[in-house]
Amino acid sequence: MSTSILVINCGSSSIKYALISERPQDRIHGLAENLGSAEARIKGITIGGQPLDLAIPHANHEQALDVLLQRLSKYKPQAIGHRVVHGGKLTKAERLTPEIIKTIRAAVPLAPLHNPAHLIGIDATMRLFPDLPQVAVFDTAFHQTMPAHAYRYALPQFLYTEHNVRRYGFHGTSHAYVSQKAGELTGQIDQGGWLTAHLGNGSSTCAIWNGKSVDTSMGMTPLEGVVMGTRSGDIDPSIHQYLATNLGWDLHKIDHMLNRESGLLGLSNLSNDMRTLIEASEQGHEDAALAIEVFSYRLAKSLAALSCGLPTLQGLIFTGGIGENSAHIREKTVAYLPHFGFALDLQKNTQLPRGQEGRIDQGQGPQIWVIPTDEEGRIAKETIEVIQQNKQ
Ligand code: AMP
Repeated sequence: MSTSILVINCGSSSIKYALISERPQDRIHGLAENLGSAEARIKGITIGGQPLDLAIPHANHEQALDVLLQRLSKYKPQAIGHRVVHGGKLTKAERLTPEIIKTIRAAVPLAPLHNPAHLIGIDATMRLFPDLPQVAVFDTAFHQTMPAHAYRYALPQFLYTEHNVRRYGFHGTSHAYVSQKAGELTGQIDQGGWLTAHLGNGSSTCAIWNGKSVDTSMGMTPLEGVVMGTRSGDIDPSIHQYLATNLGWDLHKIDHMLNRESGLLGLSNLSNDMRTLIEASEQGHEDAALAIEVFSYRLAKSLAALSCGLPTLQGLIFTGGIGENSAHIREKTVAYLPHFGFALDLQKNTQLPRGQEGRIDQGQGPQIWVIPTDEEGRIAKETIEVIQQNKQ
């Protein structure tokens, strides 16, 4: 293993980790979950594909990281790359310094569920590994190239200038990775216009022109945009007023409903999991069928809207758990875009092997690709780039 980078994604009660090296088969990854509780444990895959399941009762973030890093230290990671959801105005990955940590802290009000957890992880790894270079890679950074007409809300100006109320966009690491991969696969790196659809439990779309994000569906928070597992995506903001006046709901209850009880789960009253919904709809569950229909239609509508940011369209890329695995959703989405000239190859679409990239159009009209995302790989790559730039 010549270069290995430890990628850490610290959530409020879990830590995802991956040790990335140049040989894909050497990748180690896993999850420390239920932190702070009696059920805390680390589950993962070690080198050679061996499963790991280790109880760490009552371990907090720092203790879990300590166990993890001790186990991984034999592989001698050269650096740590942290996934950080919100980087405020930062436009690229940055080596962690007191100044950058201050910026991440300043963005806490913009990502109250995510940035505090990232800071706990950063704090722990800085204490445990003071000599290891550490880099923060931001979900928002890729979208900092959006023009003002894409990132501004039509709200009073002072809310932007004094309170940072604007569209930021998320999933930047994934949109950047799959669009760059498409460039490599077509031999046209950072050229032309791509629409990307990252479809997982959280979903977003992005328009990319010459390698740069020009618009995206998520906004100031990851709630805006397309329908997601439990998130509503776009709604009429006056629904807040209606619920407060007529049902007596407070902001906390409304926010919880929009983030946790809506989306596919809310529509179907059954599940937030697309596999479950597809199976149920095949067995005649009407609400599951409607949830799939709303998901696909609203996704297509978002892609059509984002295409306004692209002078020409080279193609569409599906990624994320749903985008990579569901031929059904891909077919439905493309069918809702009848004016774009897409010609889906039904056989290629359904026969694409799981986990593999592939082109699924008939060779005419804009291209359609399925490209498995690799956010950890991209974070590792950006971490190496930042460290090399700092050495120069
Ligand atoms: P992610 O958040 O990227 O892990 O994606 C999770 C979503 O992918 C869940 O809604 C899963 O149901 C969905 N998913 C995974 N495999 C399939 C599949 N074969 N067909 C449909 N949805 C799938």
